[in-house]
Amino acid sequence: MRLRAADIPSDGLELEFCIGHGELNDRVRPSEEGTGSPFFCFEEDPRATLKVYGDGATVIVNGNANIIIRSDCARCSELARREMSVPLQLVLKPFSSKLSLQEQVEDVSVDYYKGEDIDLAELLQDFILLALPYRMFCNDDCKGLCVKCGKNLNEGLCSCKEDPPGDDRWSVLKTIKVL
Ligand SMILES: [Zn+2]
Ligand SMILES: [Zn+2]
Repeated sequence: MRLRAADIPSDGLELEFCIGHGELNDRVRPSEEGTGSPFFCFEEDPRATLKVYGDGATVIVNGNANIIIRSDCARCSELARREMSVPLQLVLKPFSSKLSLQEQVEDVSVDYYKGEDIDLAELLQDFILLALPYRMFCNDDCKGLCVKCGKNLNEGLCSCKEDPPGDDRWSVLKTIKVL
């Protein structure tokens, strides 16, 4: 979804479009195996609903994107699925080489676009990736796995017993006084 900045009216333009989830999935895939980065998968094309305003140069973008993501539950490794609405609010100004670094740093809420076109889909991709949660759970109340037998405790209790007194290797810590 590309727009010519000069064509955006001051009374606003309403837009609704989808962003290909394949491209987003390529960006969240860990670059190397075993890096431990969270693995996300976009289930379908995020749908963006935006209103853009312009004065010929400065462009204001307001709206949100609805996404559905899947990942492994951080506690039990089962499927975690979440629907989210990612808010999008930004001010875009034409990039000028005359712009001093100082000016760019002063207003961090402003982004710059190069050339005449604004690629809204690309901007949205960045916003969506930044909004992804650090970790996900299959359910807020997920009980996780038993540390001893690995049973998924959401499916019921296992037969592992609590550590019997005397076999608690950490009990020594309780006797240490912290100065
Ligand atoms: Zn879980
Ligand atoms: Zn167990």
